[in-house]
Amino acid sequence: MERTLSIIKPDGVRKNITGEIIRRFESAGLKIAAMKKIHMSKETAEGFYAVHKGKFFYDELTSFMSEGPVVVMVLEGENAIALNRKLMGATNFKEADPGTIRADFAESIQFNVVHGSDAPDTAEFEIGYFFKPEEIF
Ligand code: ATP
Ligand code: MG
Repeated sequence: MERTLSIIKPDGVRKNITGEIIRRFESAGLKIAAMKKIHMSKETAEGFYAVHKGKFFYDELTSFMSEGPVVVMVLEGENAIALNRKLMGATNFKEADPGTIRADFAESIQFNVVHGSDAPDTAEFEIGYFFKPEEIF
C-alpha cells in the first residue's frame, strides 16, 4: 500500500469536474484516505512548490495555485504514486495519453487541472504539508 497527494487545481475546480476526477481515481482502485477544499495563500503555494523555486514558471505557477480554491486529497492504493501519475497524464497535455485527465481537460502546460506527487519522498512531504496524521484514514 502506498499513499500519494493529489490536488485538483483551481482550473479543475472552476470547470466543475471534481466529481469526474474523483470517479476516475476510485474506478482505478484508489481510495480517498483524506480530502478537503482549501484556498492557498501565495506563501502556502510557494512553500508547496519550493522544489521549483528559481524556475521561470515559479511565480506564475504559485499565483495560479493561489488564485482560487483547490481540492487536496490523499490517495491510497497499490502503486498509488505511479497509478495517479498515469491517470493524470503528462505535464504537457499535448503529450498526455488519450483518456487521461490532462488529455481530456487541460488547456495549457500550466493550467493542467491536477497535481500528483512524483516519488515516495515528495509524497511524504506533500501529504504532511496539508494533513495531520489523524486526518488521514
Ligand atoms: P505537478 O507537480 O503539478 O503534479 P508535474 O509533476 O507533471 O505537475 P512539474 O514539472 O512538477 O510537473 O511542474 C509543476 C507544475 O508547474 C506543472 O504541473 C505546471 O502547472 C507548471 N509547469 C511546469 N512546467 C511548466 C512550463 N514549462 N511552463 C509553465 N508552467 C509549467
Ligand atoms: Mg511535479
